[in-house]
Amino acid sequence: MSLHGTYDPDNIFAKIIRGEMPAVKVFEDDQVLAFMDVFPQARGHMLVISKTSKARNLLEAEAKTLGRLIGATQKAAAAVTAALKPDGVIVTQFNGAPAGQTVFHLHFHVIPRYEGEALGAHGKGMADVEELKALAEKITAAL
Ligand code: 5GP
Repeated sequence: MSLHGTYDPDNIFAKIIRGEMPAVKVFEDDQVLAFMDVFPQARGHMLVISKTSKARNLLEAEAKTLGRLIGATQKAAAAVTAALKPDGVIVTQFNGAPAGQTVFHLHFHVIPRYEGEALGAHGKGMADVEELKALAEKITAAL
């Protein structure tokens, strides 16, 4: 029942929001947070989440939450495009485990694509944190 269920306040993104788990942040305000995916599918892969909503997926999201989130997602996509000059950018999100969702706190993926480079596996291959910090710095500078 991963598509329908109860929000787990101890999911990994909730812990990142509360500062109980580290994350390489790109930008945040009182409503949204953009940070580097620690298992990136491409250089500059970011996640954008709501800091206030308990929506597990898109179907549960309040309209206001979605508005803030998609605005922040566009901002993240624009910044990563300016900073890393990819040839394309994927914006995506998954709803329910059979659809590929592994963390049940609504989020958007922003994944730069580079000509000739294959897309990495989803949720596999941990990045070097120092490299993520360097990327985040570049992306932040392009905000
Ligand atoms: P989903 O599979 O739910 O669409 O996406 C969850 C994403 O969270 C995956 O891309 C995965 O790599 C990422 N992820 C899982 N655990 C962590 C973590 O502890 N920190 C960060 N920054 N990303 C994570």
